[in-house]
Amino acid sequence: MNVRDPRYDLLFEPVRLGPVVARNRFFQVPHCNGMGHRDPTAHAVMRGVKAEGGWAVVCTEEVEIHPDSDVGGFVEGRLWDDADVPAHARLVDAVHAYGSLAGIELVHSGMSSANLYGRIPPAGPSHLPVTGYEPIQARAMTRYDIGALRRRHRAAVRRSLAAGYDLVYVYAAHGLSTLQHFLSRRTNVRTDDYGGTLDNRARLLREVLEDTREECEGRAAVACRLVVDELLGEEGIGRGEIEQLFTLVGELPDVWDVMVGAWDDDSVTSRFGYEAWTEEHFRGIKELTTKPVVGVGWLTSPDTMVRLVQGGVLDLIGAARPSIADPFLPRKIEEGRLDDIRECIGCNVCVTGDWTATPIRCTQNPSMGEEWRRGWHPERFRPRGSDARVLVVGGGPAGLEAAVALGKRGYDVTLAEASRALGGRVVRESRLPGFAPWIRVVDYRKTQLGKLPNVEVALESEVTVDELAEYGFDHVAVATGATWRRDGVGRWHTRPIPLDGIEVLTPDDVLAGMRPAGDRVLLFDDDHYYLGGALAEHLAAQGCRVTLATPAVRVSEWTVNTMEQPRIHRRLVDAGVELLTAHALLAAAGGEVRLACTWTDREQALQVDAIVLVTARVPNDGLAIAPASRAVGDAFAPGTIATAVWDGRRFAEELDEEPKGDAVPFRREVVALAEDAR
Ligand code: ADP
Ligand code: SF4
Repeated sequence: MNVRDPRYDLLFEPVRLGPVVARNRFFQVPHCNGMGHRDPTAHAVMRGVKAEGGWAVVCTEEVEIHPDSDVGGFVEGRLWDDADVPAHARLVDAVHAYGSLAGIELVHSGMSSANLYGRIPPAGPSHLPVTGYEPIQARAMTRYDIGALRRRHRAAVRRSLAAGYDLVYVYAAHGLSTLQHFLSRRTNVRTDDYGGTLDNRARLLREVLEDTREECEGRAAVACRLVVDELLGEEGIGRGEIEQLFTLVGELPDVWDVMVGAWDDDSVTSRFGYEAWTEEHFRGIKELTTKPVVGVGWLTSPDTMVRLVQGGVLDLIGAARPSIADPFLPRKIEEGRLDDIRECIGCNVCVTGDWTATPIRCTQNPSMGEEWRRGWHPERFRPRGSDARVLVVGGGPAGLEAAVALGKRGYDVTLAEASRALGGRVVRESRLPGFAPWIRVVDYRKTQLGKLPNVEVALESEVTVDELAEYGFDHVAVATGATWRRDGVGRWHTRPIPLDGIEVLTPDDVLAGMRPAGDRVLLFDDDHYYLGGALAEHLAAQGCRVTLATPAVRVSEWTVNTMEQPRIHRRLVDAGVELLTAHALLAAAGGEVRLACTWTDREQALQVDAIVLVTARVPNDGLAIAPASRAVGDAFAPGTIATAVWDGRRFAEELDEEPKGDAVPFRREVVALAEDAR
């Protein structure tokens, strides 16, 4: 039995938050999950697993208080009226079942949402267009509107208490809340007593804090999530104003939850940020208030956590992503099992669930979002259903996850990997600039394999179809990955394109260390996730003169969903990469490539020495013809690392399950129909 290192004792001290006590310093701050009001039980069970894993406080995502401000287009929480209370009570119960406190983040989105669901014209501090490009403006709120907001917030607080929440948030952060819009000089251009001086701009926040205190009446803690620097310089909220603000409202909430910038700053990916990057912004906040302070900053290492508490920066360790990647992070520290921590890699695949309005997913934790729906748990595994022997071919993310999950289920497993190292594509991609933390996907699984005597790992063991037949395993997971295409086929071209008299490289070549012979390189990105941009950056660093062409209107188009796209664009420009958006590669001949504008079909020619094609992949599924085998991960359908890991887990889960045939393969909730349709 492992024991906790006394170095971490500090993290397990209880912290008083007004009328309630957090049993330790681990605080899962509010985070979106793409399930919200549509999948209430799946959401509740997911939060319950975090409580089970030791988070003393477990919060919801932002929860709409009234349909006059909805987050339509996204699936968040709702607490519009009493009909929404039971779903919240279920979540609270799931969190209370493990002795944790449940928190709710109430939101009035105001000018940051177009109210697409309810169609009620949005309102904010000033007559200004809503953020985003929806063709509607937010009206400047009248005194009547301000009164209504306060009344509706109070009503939502009462409902939160009815649902059993222990913490109720007043939200003024991420640029997503009316209270922040009033506070910020950038969005508040009012001339009445809610505009102008900081006292005036802070009036609504102060009033709502006071209202919330009064409603909570010592029954629940009041939390305030506040942006302590909008990162807008003189134009926005900065430290000077924050110091003044704390003299006005610093003692009103029971706990301060502080953050920096907008959501894409708060959840900056590891490619562009680093652990505890927020520390410099948080330092000194605690001196402004006697109330405890929680904050995030991609805090994954227990030593960093201790340093922040000891250094007087934070009282509670805030986490969204680290709690998603490992809901059991606190328990593992408590039990002295640091090597079992599944560290977040900072890829923001979790965030894509919110942007695509689908249940949250995680590269490191395949059970995230599947806790209730498929009955997957991040730590507990269903015991094996037979004595079958299983072969996993390929030690990339899919094969690693399949082997670990099967091993934990108790199966005898052999993992055969052709190369000298485990990790597949992750090993190669994590060498690209900024991707080093991604190797954690491999590290975590290698450590787990080392603890499973029933899993045998064979490196430098390429498996052939004939061998498969000889070995006689009962089940075979063919996790042999995929190969990047060399013929231009992808989204834009579904047939090969003519590419003559020019060096053509694929991501596999570049990741294997090849550099084009000449300097002038055209990289054609028809994949649209991170790899095209990352390879362009890598080639530029190697001295190539790179032009990145893409049929999309933005480089690395899909990374809008990981909130990285503007940073990728900026980094490519800084690296000297020429960007040619809305252009498709047509053909190459004799040192010249032809491209066409995707809007106008107008063609242009470029003189280059080489082409790098980041278009599509062919699954390496040749072994999957063997009996009792199934392709898994990229060998089944090339996708993200997250998809490969998830499919590895699925293989392990479904191995001895009753086949579901044509039935829906997971649980879901269907809305209750109204009494009649008239
Ligand atoms: P995925 O993302 O689906 O896990 P990867 O491409 O990352 O796929 O990993 C596939 C792994 O399979 C690589 O490490 C590769 O070396 C290995 N591999 C491919 N073919 C064979 C084979 N025939 N026998 C053993 N290992 C193989
Ligand atoms: Fe971390 Fe990526 Fe998982 Fe999000 S998806 S929690 S960033 S590992």
